[in-house]
Amino acid sequence: MKNIFIFAEQRDGVVSSAYYEMLSETIKLYGDRAFVSAVVFGYGNIPVEALKESGADKVYVLESKKLAEYEPMSYTTALVKLISDEKPDVVFVAASVIGSEMAPGVACALRTGLAAHCTELALDDKGELIMIAPAFGGKLLGEYFIPNTLPVMASIKAGVFEKAELPSKNAEIITVDASFLDDAEGGVEFVNRTVVELTEQPVEKADVIVCAGLGIGNEDNLAKARKLASILKASMGYTRPMVDMGYIENENSMIGSSGKMVKPKLYLGFGVSGAAQHLCGMKDSGLIINVNTNEKAECFAASNYKVVSDSGIILDELIKALEK
Ligand SMILES: Cc1cc2nc3c(=O)[nH]c(=O)nc-3n(C[C@H](O)[C@H](O)[C@H](O)COP(=O)(O)OP(=O)(O)OC[C@H]3O[C@@H](n4cnc5c(N)ncnc54)[C@H](O)[C@@H]3O)c2cc1C
Repeated sequence: MKNIFIFAEQRDGVVSSAYYEMLSETIKLYGDRAFVSAVVFGYGNIPVEALKESGADKVYVLESKKLAEYEPMSYTTALVKLISDEKPDVVFVAASVIGSEMAPGVACALRTGLAAHCTELALDDKGELIMIAPAFGGKLLGEYFIPNTLPVMASIKAGVFEKAELPSKNAEIITVDASFLDDAEGGVEFVNRTVVELTEQPVEKADVIVCAGLGIGNEDNLAKARKLASILKASMGYTRPMVDMGYIENENSMIGSSGKMVKPKLYLGFGVSGAAQHLCGMKDSGLIINVNTNEKAECFAASNYKVVSDSGIILDELIKALEK
């Protein structure tokens, strides 16, 4: 029986979808050979009931003013202490902005190994965890084992595992005394939180994605792609160079090995070359259509339909046809 911890990120009392995905995959993988505990941090409005009913066996709750907002030193200190006390065999953390920062610090403090940004999990014939993650920028998949230290730690990309309908196990709630954090040095002061209103579905939840690659060419064509997305009620996705070149201001909608994993029903790419690092983030989409001037572009190998043409021309035609 493996004792498994899953760190449940929450904001304003809402558990992240990544937690449910990790829990579903853990139960699918281990069946009844694992005892699964959710770990949640916060201060007031902690979603204890949701976690109790989520299908986990146990929920560890750490409540402290120092854990009200994500702050790397306090979160790392709290997780290291809990793991040191409870000694789980395996710890899963989402490969989110928070998890990607916190997990290496926790692994380092515990002198154990961490497989980062995993996209698959498997068990070997002895029931030990094999963690699979894109390596060399997504060109190949690496299998990672952590044979000599515990816990085995992995950060998991959101959106790669299906969330299953799990029956409640009416989990036992353990309220952990977090007063050890009172005197702990934070190092980072929380100043303010700005809530950005989203005008479209987050790309990882979208049914339809219009993706702009560098071959979109200019701001005019990008505006056309956004117009098409609005007509189709789609979300916009981007390749990494679109972020690096400053066409968009953050990585929230970037697709690929260092961005989001997406599975829309329809993916429409304009000027996307189809580099391995991008393909690994969208290859599981339902219907894939790419527009590219180069008939030998790599994106076509992963496409259901290929359109060898200029992005601007096809965007104009599509908008005209759909606006009729
Ligand atoms: C460690 C690492 C991680 C990375 N992570 C990611 C990631 O998460 N996501 C990601 O996307 N990339 C990632 N990259 C970058 C990746 O390797 C590619 O460089 C990138 O995906 C290419 O982006 P692109 O297709 O937009 O641009 P380009 O490679 O410049 O391709 C542009 C394409 O547009 C076509 N084109 C040109 N003009 C037109 C036109 N008028 N109409 C239509 N088509 C046209 C061209 O034929 C070409 O195929 C990563 C790289 C590394 C090293």
